[in-house]
Amino acid sequence: MYRLLTKLALASLAAVSIQAAIANEIVVYSARNEQLIKPLFDAFTKETGVNVKFVTDKEGPLMARLKAEGSNTPADMFMTVDAGNLWQAAEEGLLKSVKSRTLAANIPAHLRDPENEWFGLSVRARTIVYNKNAVNPGELTTYEDLASPKWKGRLCLRTSKKVYNQSLVAMMIYEHGEGMTEDIVSGWVSNLAAPPFPDDTKAMEAVAAGQCDVTLVNTYYFGRLMAKNPSLPLAIFWPNQKLKSSNAGVHVNVSGAGITRHAKNPEGAIKLLEWLSSEKAQNLYADVNMEYPANPRVKPDSAVAAWGDFKQNLINVKQAGLLQAKAVKLMDRAGYK
Ligand code: FE
Repeated sequence: MYRLLTKLALASLAAVSIQAAIANEIVVYSARNEQLIKPLFDAFTKETGVNVKFVTDKEGPLMARLKAEGSNTPADMFMTVDAGNLWQAAEEGLLKSVKSRTLAANIPAHLRDPENEWFGLSVRARTIVYNKNAVNPGELTTYEDLASPKWKGRLCLRTSKKVYNQSLVAMMIYEHGEGMTEDIVSGWVSNLAAPPFPDDTKAMEAVAAGQCDVTLVNTYYFGRLMAKNPSLPLAIFWPNQKLKSSNAGVHVNVSGAGITRHAKNPEGAIKLLEWLSSEKAQNLYADVNMEYPANPRVKPDSAVAAWGDFKQNLINVKQAGLLQAKAVKLMDRAGYK
């Protein structure tokens, strides 16, 4: 009897200490780079005493891992870039809906999942960059206008294989329908000065070198390139600002996160997510990568603010996921490699 009691006591002690260990630790699978997230997790641990363990990899392998691990996964949170990827994770049942007044108050509706399975934490603006020696900014107006004949032989683009361009075209399908979007993308293709580039930086370098005059990039790549080489004759233009339609504005995407369906410490992970959306964490989150805070009460870093204010397109970024397959097929039909 005594032995049995001791055994029971020990077992319940062990259970309690496992509970305590879980409560004191959050596990994150992240497709956002280590150098961008570690400073945040360190600050969270310092403030709360809760450890954050993380694994970084590309979103594909991380999603495959979550799926394979199923209910045994140690991951509490899944963090990635591009709403298309977050939407995919939700679609595959890897995330769970979170009710949080804090998140609803901190993150604008167009930057989070309407079912609350994921939340944008930073905004990435995909905009026009042009060569100041070759383009008068008065010539620039919209993404759509880059399909017009006046840009023949003057446009460079990154490959359509990158999710950023798939998301941009998906959002255009939502806005204009497939027929008009295909006309626009075909127009872009016939205006190309060179075959599509493997990344945003290479496309900007071609613009700077005079191989073409304009391109479309995420602004943090512009920020990084100019920090390295401030003398490049490049500038940012914010398109679609003067349109009257409710969908007017610069196309934005997010990096963000959701709580995994089988989280062992969902309460802790929700606290971390809320903390990441808070005023004190948002600069730390966005500034390290020259992105825009998702929380509209937080100002961007001064170097980023210097590029000027712009109006965001308010279409919910989940459309980037919903219409991604259509976008990929459309770009293929339009000959956008
Ligand atoms: Fe990127």
